[in-house]
Amino acid sequence: MFARMPKKSDNSRYYDVLGVSKSASADELKKAYRKAAIKNHPDKGGDPEKFKEISQAYEVLSDPEKRDLYDQYGEDALKEGMGGGGASHNPFDIFESFFGTGGGGSFGGSVRGGRRQRRGEDVVHQLKVTLEDLYNGTSKKLSLSRNVICSKCKGKGSKTGASSRCAGCSGSGMKVVIRQLGPNMIQQMQHVCPECRGSGETISEKDKCGQCRGQKVVQDKKLLEVHVEKGMQNGQKITFQGEADESPDLQTGDIVFVLQLKEHPKFKRKGDDLFVEHTLTLTEALCGFQFPLTHLDNRQLLIKSSPGEIIKPGQFKAINDEGMPHYQRPFIKGRLYMHFTVEFPESNTLTPEQQKVLETVLPPRPSSQMTDMELGECEETTLHDVNIEDEMKRKQQQQQQEAYDEDEEAGGGPRVQCAQQ
Ligand SMILES: [Zn+2]
Ligand SMILES: [Zn+2]
Repeated sequence: MFARMPKKSDNSRYYDVLGVSKSASADELKKAYRKAAIKNHPDKGGDPEKFKEISQAYEVLSDPEKRDLYDQYGEDALKEGMGGGGASHNPFDIFESFFGTGGGGSFGGSVRGGRRQRRGEDVVHQLKVTLEDLYNGTSKKLSLSRNVICSKCKGKGSKTGASSRCAGCSGSGMKVVIRQLGPNMIQQMQHVCPECRGSGETISEKDKCGQCRGQKVVQDKKLLEVHVEKGMQNGQKITFQGEADESPDLQTGDIVFVLQLKEHPKFKRKGDDLFVEHTLTLTEALCGFQFPLTHLDNRQLLIKSSPGEIIKPGQFKAINDEGMPHYQRPFIKGRLYMHFTVEFPESNTLTPEQQKVLETVLPPRPSSQMTDMELGECEETTLHDVNIEDEMKRKQQQQQQEAYDEDEEAGGGPRVQCAQQ
């Protein structure tokens, strides 16, 4: 490369642009750039071309290696050294990295940690998973299309590398739109130039790269394999760093998958525990039960009561180590909780003989302990069958009707007025 170095050429323009001497220190350069950049920023009505020049000059002179090269061989050496693109960085990126403001926007923009390159958008996808997926772990292959830097022109968009200043924005990459809001009021809005998409340059029709037609990027299909690990949670994110749309001026964003759990018909999850509802007959609750339960990995668990054990309605029982696996420690598992409902027999009556049999095993009835005297002091009543929900609903409707009728009787001012109109 050094063998092809051009002859000594102009190597003072960058210093002139910043208004410093060739022996300026890094600190002096910094101060000079700061002053010149603010003065010439297009936001403040400065000339975009001048602003670009200032940024270019500072980009080179603030880098000791580039400055050395420039001092010895001038601008041409840098163009070669930088891959033909010259000082091709977006001047706003340099400005941003210096001041930490939001790109070409207003000076009061948010501080973004002085990041050198703006970052492209993250692409977020929902990924539907079943509870079985989260219990067993799985991997899902997904084909996504995205923009990648054109391989033919390496993201320059042009065959020759040549580009000219965008006519739409005069090379600033930003466009100012002025709207008349009222007789004495205008609104000034600034946004990224749609013609050059913020790059500040355009490529002539004949120079456009044949593969991307000057777009700098092409569509590409990418096959991603998403590993859903055991114990992951609903809403958990799986990130593929730097796999989103590529763009020559941006740091590529991430593709993010957000797990979205589908409801399971039988198992409910709470943290690392699982819950299953099960209905027992009264006989099972009193005399014992056993039944198979198909787990999330298709194992058959035999769920059974201890000998002689009575299960009460609403009671919980737990099986250790049959809950969800811990994320990243899948050999540790939560508990599987069984929640029991007890269903009474369908029939409404028992024969006196059946009652006698039950009384021999169940605790005695309190009523059998009432004395005749206590009974004699009580009045007889009858218990009727009711459908409590239907009756309550009917009562509520009745009350509403009565309230309405009262309104009507009271003359209900506004209602009458409405009716007359
Ligand atoms: Zn191309
Ligand atoms: Zn433009």
